[in-house]
Amino acid sequence: MDFKSPYIAFSAPSGAGKTTIVKQLAQRYAQTVISVSATTRPKRPFETDGVDYIFLSEEAFKEDIARGKFLEYEKVHGNYYGTLLETIEKFRKQGKVVLFDIDVNGALAVKRHYPEAILIFIKPPSTEELIRRLKGRKSETEASIQKRLERLEFEYARAGEFDYSIVNDDLAAAIAEVERLILKDKT
Ligand code: ADP
Ligand code: 5GP
Repeated sequence: MDFKSPYIAFSAPSGAGKTTIVKQLAQRYAQTVISVSATTRPKRPFETDGVDYIFLSEEAFKEDIARGKFLEYEKVHGNYYGTLLETIEKFRKQGKVVLFDIDVNGALAVKRHYPEAILIFIKPPSTEELIRRLKGRKSETEASIQKRLERLEFEYARAGEFDYSIVNDDLAAAIAEVERLILKDKT
């Protein structure tokens, strides 16, 4: 299967379903890999260090910033998140198509670094549904849901800078739409 670009970045308001979509794509296409970001946020019970994220202390994260090791980094919802250049270079050497699950500023930074990157913004069908999904995920406290909602406007304001926006209402339909955007023979 041929991809239109070796770098495909997905952003969405937290809870819109970006991780679900990216994971399904990675399962379906063996030549893709999900970029593993570094973060200072606490590990969720079902997450694995080095697989879902590289979990770092704030001190270690700041050291990597000073050493210029990040392609980009951002403080999101009170925690640092960043993409380590060496992670992306390692995947590219393996010939992988890199899928980024990243915030809006991070995606725009990926595009600056790799102009051939495709940026896809994923929207929920409505804010009510977004809140339902965030509560359903059971990973957030009320306060952290509130923090994520406060960022909505900021994220939507940048959606126009993405190559494409799609609505994740029916999951299978959303994935099919993404496939049409990123695969050469699905246009
Ligand atoms: P994000 O990575 O954008 O924060 P997730 O992928 O974690 O979002 O999805 C948030 C929650 O919504 C999860 O519990 C997920 O199973 C659910 N979800 C994802 N896509 C859909 C969909 N199309 N319809 C209903 N629920 C969905
Ligand atoms: P979560 O804590 O829900 O896993 O992620 C919170 C937010 O951080 C999401 O919007 C996610 O896309 C973003 N994020 C994850 N990794 C990175 C990264 O490496 N860089 C940037 N800029 N944002 C990231």
